[in-house]
Amino acid sequence: MLLDALKRPIKDLRISVTDRCNFRCSYCMPLDEYEWINKKEILTFEEIAHLATLFVGLGVEKIRLTGGEPLVRQNLDKLVAKLSAIDGLQDLCLTTNGALLAEKVAALKAAGLKRVNISIDSLDPEKFTRITKRGDLSKVLEGIFAAKKYGLHPIKLNAVIEKGINQDDVLNLVEFSRDHGFAIRFIEYMDVGNSNSWTSEKLVSKKEIIETINSRYPLKEVGRVQGSAPSVDYEFVDGCGDIGVIASVTEPFCPSCTRVRLTADGKLVTCLFSDVGHDVKVLLRGGASDKEITEFLTSIWRMRADRYSAERLEALRSSNYNPKSHKKIEMISLGG
Ligand code: SAM
Ligand code: SF4
Ligand code: SF4
Repeated sequence: MLLDALKRPIKDLRISVTDRCNFRCSYCMPLDEYEWINKKEILTFEEIAHLATLFVGLGVEKIRLTGGEPLVRQNLDKLVAKLSAIDGLQDLCLTTNGALLAEKVAALKAAGLKRVNISIDSLDPEKFTRITKRGDLSKVLEGIFAAKKYGLHPIKLNAVIEKGINQDDVLNLVEFSRDHGFAIRFIEYMDVGNSNSWTSEKLVSKKEIIETINSRYPLKEVGRVQGSAPSVDYEFVDGCGDIGVIASVTEPFCPSCTRVRLTADGKLVTCLFSDVGHDVKVLLRGGASDKEITEFLTSIWRMRADRYSAERLEALRSSNYNPKSHKKIEMISLGG
């Protein structure tokens, strides 16, 4: 089994299919313009599927398509069809803001997509537009219900909770999920990228989120799926579904992190908070053999010693954490 320097296997591959997005969420991509990746640098579907197959050969079991907003990439269903056909891949998932899902879900489902994660931070239309800057809540809801109609399952909703912004939406989102049979994952606000002005004061901790939900709907902790999932899951005591919290800041899960990321322009990134990626595209387009590419991927994973969130918690505890002191790759290009 391929293990990194901290004895972690490689299991999950997150592929960013584009750095572009039709939203401008304040916590992710707050600026109007970025230095967009040049179109000819973006991996083709054939290149992505080729690399994904090599990753599966190294032990990857699960692939998540993300971005930017993956559904702004034309014909994404063609990529889904190619990835669904990879021998040995156990799970293929899409993370989307949902705005274009209603119009694309039929083709995605036909191509083999079984499940989807949809981000939704508020059920208040005005607040939703304030957070996402360009988002229309009704389109996202349409997307969520279209996914349900087409039988994608499970449908997981993701909500980033930020103090003073949508902390008071937690219970509404829980009720919405319970009423419609969706699972929901709350995400602690993180200092991803370089432009979201994160401070620890904006954080709503897992503990606070759980207390809020538990006070209305009693919960029972289930733990992390397979012991290594980012989300700590809870079931409602009344049996009406489950919720989870991804507590990257207050309960980092670096010791069990099995995730690798592939950027839209073909760089391998070993941590969400990395400042550099490793160029695989140059090998791919330079005619390297599968054996050479696999050796390259293997050597990068073997050297991996990332544990950024664990280090951040240590620094936060000793009050000397400055998010700006560490330059990171923007989340939009490396795939959240
Ligand atoms: N555009 C798609 C979406 O929004 O679902 C996929 C890409 S987005 C980068 C993936 C996930 O990262 C989303 O669930 C989003 O809420 C989350 N995310 C983005 N910025 C974040 C931040 N600063 N802290 C925590 N989660 C964040
Ligand atoms: Fe776009 Fe998703 Fe980032 Fe929002 S979280 S700006 S939808 S990539
Ligand atoms: Fe994995 Fe890096 Fe996140 Fe730690 S900080 S869980 S190593 S991606």
